[in-house]
Amino acid sequence: MAYPQELPDLGYDYDALEPHIDARTMEIHHSKHHAAYTANLNAALKSHPGLQDRSVEDLLGNMGDVPEAIRGAVRNNGGGYVNHALFWDLMTPGGADAPSGDLASAIEAAFGSVDELKSRVNTAAITRFGSGWGWVVATDSGLAVRSTANQDSPLMDGQTPILGVDVWEHAYYLRYQNRRPDYLNAWWSTVNWDVVAANFAAAG
Ligand code: MN
Repeated sequence: MAYPQELPDLGYDYDALEPHIDARTMEIHHSKHHAAYTANLNAALKSHPGLQDRSVEDLLGNMGDVPEAIRGAVRNNGGGYVNHALFWDLMTPGGADAPSGDLASAIEAAFGSVDELKSRVNTAAITRFGSGWGWVVATDSGLAVRSTANQDSPLMDGQTPILGVDVWEHAYYLRYQNRRPDYLNAWWSTVNWDVVAANFAAAG
């Protein structure tokens, strides 16, 4: 049953990612921002029982099935819902600090090195004007780096995100103010590559 969606637990405390991501940012980001996307998604689907047994990922991948009256709400809030769920899972106070196995091979094939992958994600995320996300996505032709605006999900384009970094100001402004590059450099220290590998494996 996909409806109603519930705000997922982080799986760690709000202060667990200090000093890279501060506790106050994590608390507001999860308990206010992600909670609002969740509530607004549920509100949009409330009067559309035909959509309520479909996963949010399924709806984002088939936006033409979503009635025009709520398409914008599902795009923004469904995207916000799944993007943040992925984001929380990726960050950890522990876990693998480098890719291995099939993921490492796919990164090598697409980018040559992990450092090059990070550099391309940083560039995509820094050059995203305004609010959005930087991504590593699994496509039919291998891994790729891109960004999206607002809460748009790569799922809308048939791509599976395996890593994503939130570059809305609400993700970093309290600690980093306008210094998005500093936030990105710190953020890499929170990534659990075991989760990225699991996302990659699930993407098939
Ligand atoms: Mn966010």
